[in-house]
Amino acid sequence: MSARQIHISGVVQGVGFRPFVYELAQRCSLVGWVRNTSAGVDIAVQGEEAAVESFLFHLTHDAPPLAHIDSIEVKTIAMDGFATFEIQESESVAGAFQPVSPDVALCAECERELFDPGDRRYLYPFINCTHCGPRFTIIRDLPYDRPATSLADFALCANCQREYTDPADRRFHAQPVACPTCGPHVWLNEKGKTVGERLEAILQTRRLLREGKIVAVKGLGGFHLACDATNAEAVAELRRRKGRVGKPFALMAADIQTVEDLCAVNTAERQLLTGREKPIVILKRRTTNVTGAVVDEVAPNVDTLGMMLPYTPLHQLLLNQTNPTLAAEPAPRVLVMTSGNLSEEPILTDNKAARSQLATLADAFLFHNRDIDQRCDDSVIRVVDGQPLHQRRSRGYAPYPVKLPFNVPTILATGGELKNTFCLTRDQYAFLSQHIGDMENVETMVAFEKSQAHLKRLFRIEPTAIVHDLHPGYLTTRWARRQSLPLIEVQHHHAHIAACMADNGLTGETPVIGLAFDGTGYGTDGTIWGGEVLIADFKTFRRYAHLEPLPLPGGDAATRHPWRTAVGYATALGLSMRALALLQGVDPQAVLIVEAQVRKMLNTPLTSSLGRLFDAVAALAGGRTTVTYEAQAAIEMEAAARQITADVPVYPIYWDEVGGTRLVRLRECLRAIITDAQRDETFGYIGARFHRTLAALAMRLCVDAKRETGLNQVALSGGVWQNTLLLELTVAGLKAEGFEVLTHRQTPANDGGLALGQAVIAAKQME
Ligand code: ZN
Ligand code: ZN
Ligand code: FE
Repeated sequence: MSARQIHISGVVQGVGFRPFVYELAQRCSLVGWVRNTSAGVDIAVQGEEAAVESFLFHLTHDAPPLAHIDSIEVKTIAMDGFATFEIQESESVAGAFQPVSPDVALCAECERELFDPGDRRYLYPFINCTHCGPRFTIIRDLPYDRPATSLADFALCANCQREYTDPADRRFHAQPVACPTCGPHVWLNEKGKTVGERLEAILQTRRLLREGKIVAVKGLGGFHLACDATNAEAVAELRRRKGRVGKPFALMAADIQTVEDLCAVNTAERQLLTGREKPIVILKRRTTNVTGAVVDEVAPNVDTLGMMLPYTPLHQLLLNQTNPTLAAEPAPRVLVMTSGNLSEEPILTDNKAARSQLATLADAFLFHNRDIDQRCDDSVIRVVDGQPLHQRRSRGYAPYPVKLPFNVPTILATGGELKNTFCLTRDQYAFLSQHIGDMENVETMVAFEKSQAHLKRLFRIEPTAIVHDLHPGYLTTRWARRQSLPLIEVQHHHAHIAACMADNGLTGETPVIGLAFDGTGYGTDGTIWGGEVLIADFKTFRRYAHLEPLPLPGGDAATRHPWRTAVGYATALGLSMRALALLQGVDPQAVLIVEAQVRKMLNTPLTSSLGRLFDAVAALAGGRTTVTYEAQAAIEMEAAARQITADVPVYPIYWDEVGGTRLVRLRECLRAIITDAQRDETFGYIGARFHRTLAALAMRLCVDAKRETGLNQVALSGGVWQNTLLLELTVAGLKAEGFEVLTHRQTPANDGGLALGQAVIAAKQME
């Protein structure tokens, strides 16, 4: 006989780990106990030596699908005379912590029960089990037990209690377990009155959606505004009410077949759509018309659609096309599902707040009474080369940590201004928060502070330092300066490259060649950077090359009006006379005023941003002169450029060496683009040439840097890499030259991944 005590850390709570251990111990004829602690799961087993060995083997090899074991410690203990194997009460260990499971989409088994008329949870919108359902969004504290979730107030009925306490049941210790008798329910509110409850509310919601109404639907991590995506009037009305002009809406389709009718879907994309995270996947839209197709207003001027499948039982009930009971009120096959918020504010989670703030946006509200403790937006992913690229890492992924190859102190990294996420570190973990949003208003700032307090409590992290961006005007910088902790400043693009390195598991001891291709970020010289080649490790960086700094008339105003950037660049490069005529729909008088502004350098910062170069080129090449959402001009140019499949020549582009840095000169490139535009070459053709020019430039600069430094690893980071055409061309070019190319895998390349880079840089500086 022998006995062992085992401590396991990782995502091991809320994923069916204890029932798995219980069952395994029974099978191996072992006695002892298992319990959750706030540091993981502790186990003690006793039995024949061979049986104990077998138990240990299966413990790591057959763990439940959602479990993620980070470490396992085993020690031999004295025999203790256990009589049975039991599951003990959870224990809280002071200061200990463990990762929390993200929310998990409805599993196949629960889906089957949901539509089984004989099941007691038939058509019940909150069905879940040990392997699926809400997690992060309902957890208030650790250890993860029902009283520490937003289900605390729902006392289990006898049936649920039996399932919850039966180790052989697939709902054993499923903390959010619920049924129609004892669990949360839905109701429909129209014009301030409840007009239907439970199944009736679902049926009435389906009817409203079919009739073209806009319904605010409370989901997993917040409210959505939903409407029929095949109804042009409904979509146009939603745009009007939200004040959202052109930015694509996310869609939710009834089933994978509907997605494939609308978009080309490859294997990797299908896995994401149907897997346990079920993010929004950006897919190539089919050009052939299909009956009941979504209307163009959903995503104007782009060749993609952001699609997801129902990830909660409630969504299943709203979109199901086959169940006879639901078919009494036919529902649209595809819904617009956009965040329920006022333009740039955080997604709403609370019934009362939603009712007042979405009153002018929604015709009706589908409410429920399971509180959303943590706000969590839908994640957005695009697949390139079979690899998922995160554009927004939130539901289904947060707060799962990035594991680092070294230990870090407890740090809070505040992230950037747009698409903010923050990062908390301890031990070997970097916990990147869910998507917080654009730090432009008080509401987002409040969400930032609330999520921070929550993650600090969950993971038992008391930061010893705060990291912020160099930009003095960022709300995150100002917030950091109000705290009474040591501050560390990190340059924006250094953080981008470090984020990509940490994402790829690098230790950051040896430098890489970093291509920080980005919108805008504050530089160490007070100008705005964004077209940077850095030689960077975690400790430090050097600006190896960058685009030549050019005037950005009006700063932020230029970001919204690409024609202003075009005028700024053309004026500075002596190309203004010819450029002027190309700016479509722009008042010539306004152009003259901006020209004068540039000459006097009034409110005209200098920038080396590649994002702004995209804007200027788009405006000159017949694209957008004004944008209604971030990077719209570049996104549309990418879509147009993809239509050109023939080989096109690159534009002339070269650099000067000035004081040890390579300055990429843009005059000849822009002059050639203007010439193409004057010859009425298409937007797509010019776009295709421009993309190839940038890929070739990146490759040549890397070859140059390699010759000088001997470095062979290239890290790609910054928002511009969401341009998948540029990404594909650049990666192919670099690989052909023998470079090892690092791209973001677990985190976004845009500012949503910035905090991770800030954290690892600060950690190294604190050593
Ligand atoms: Zn399930
Ligand atoms: Zn029940
Ligand atoms: Fe950035």
